[in-house]
Amino acid sequence: MTLEKDAELKARAEKVIPNGMYGHEWVGLLMPGTPQFFSRAKGAYLWDVDDNRYVDFMCAYGPQLLGYGHPEVDAAYIDQLQKMDVGTGPTAHIVELAEKWVSMVDHADWAMFCKNGTDATTMALMAARAYRDKKKILIANGAYHGASNWCTPFPHGVTDEDRAHFISYTYNDVESLEAAVAEAGDDLAGIFASPFKHDVFTPQELPDPAYAKRARELCDEKDALLIVDEIRAGLRIARDASWSLIGVKPDLTSWGKSLANGHPISALLGSEKAKEAAGKIYVTGSFWFAGAAMAASLVTLKLVEETDYLERMISMGDRLRDGLDEIAKRRSIEISQSGPSQMPLIMFPDGKGGYDMDIGYKFCTGLLGRGVYFHPWHNMFISAAMTDADIDLTVQAADDTLAELLQVSAA
Ligand SMILES: *Cc1c(COP(=O)(O)O)cnc(C)c1O
Repeated sequence: MTLEKDAELKARAEKVIPNGMYGHEWVGLLMPGTPQFFSRAKGAYLWDVDDNRYVDFMCAYGPQLLGYGHPEVDAAYIDQLQKMDVGTGPTAHIVELAEKWVSMVDHADWAMFCKNGTDATTMALMAARAYRDKKKILIANGAYHGASNWCTPFPHGVTDEDRAHFISYTYNDVESLEAAVAEAGDDLAGIFASPFKHDVFTPQELPDPAYAKRARELCDEKDALLIVDEIRAGLRIARDASWSLIGVKPDLTSWGKSLANGHPISALLGSEKAKEAAGKIYVTGSFWFAGAAMAASLVTLKLVEETDYLERMISMGDRLRDGLDEIAKRRSIEISQSGPSQMPLIMFPDGKGGYDMDIGYKFCTGLLGRGVYFHPWHNMFISAAMTDADIDLTVQAADDTLAELLQVSAA
């Protein structure tokens, strides 16, 4: 495996792009030996600029749900692109798409569309504050809700004032949630929650129904809005809002990433109760009403409703989890696999209550050399385009990599 063209592009990028790349694509976050640049993708596979092929377990960090280049989705996109994409007004698709969401998602009575997930979470934040003119927002420690000044994970360029009205609590911890609500007093505007805990560098946790139900109750008691951020997990857990599985209805849900299988669109959905507040906030964008991504999203949602994509993703995820468990047992090593199997996080416990990131990185680098793109500390994504053969190739690559690592550590 050579990465010559990639190295050349990295060198050029360093000169004309701050830090060579930014955000979640920042070079400093890449494992050593990981390609930065890609040239094409199809189904479950991704090719880097040097033409190495990978089974891609990152799915573009979430947007790929049904596999890259899905023919039906892309045909709808191209067809609308040729008719009109960004226009002086929206196409009819925006109404059809809002109707589709309202019919699919039980808590939702209305929809608004935007481009990035951060647009949707920022709209949720504003709508919650506009609802009863209150300020305090609760966010779980370590949860990611986007990269605007109110939520970006790094402090640079952010003022204390930007963060003045946020209170943190611990996910799945009813006591800490209650304490945060008490701290907000009469000024609680809303509570943000992820569908399950999918923070980086730490094992994922499914939602404790007691926590989700308490969040609902507290919002009702305080006349505040419950916001569930579905941007990463949406459509990967259920064909409805993710907490429909535990019987809790949010007031607002933010959606993004996978809604149009890779095409740029995100959404804020809300209940009747939050409709007036959503109508008060002024939010917009030059590209938010573009028709092509909406056409692509309509087809994606049709496939979500009509195919077994979700059951297939879960069965592929289970196959991977079982395969890695078998390796761990046979080789007597500990592998932590957390979260829903279709959104796996795989790390190596260090025996001291933490995780051995060095082994994690080496494991992923070893897989990369064997045609599998894994991530050492961010949850991964199974796509519906993956097959038994892709998973078996991955499990074999994991076994070969671990055999090599164990040999090195024994020597
Ligand atoms: C990615 C993500 C966002 C932000 O979405 P962007 O499209 O990157 O702006 C917000 N919340 C969660 C849970 C995410 O995973």
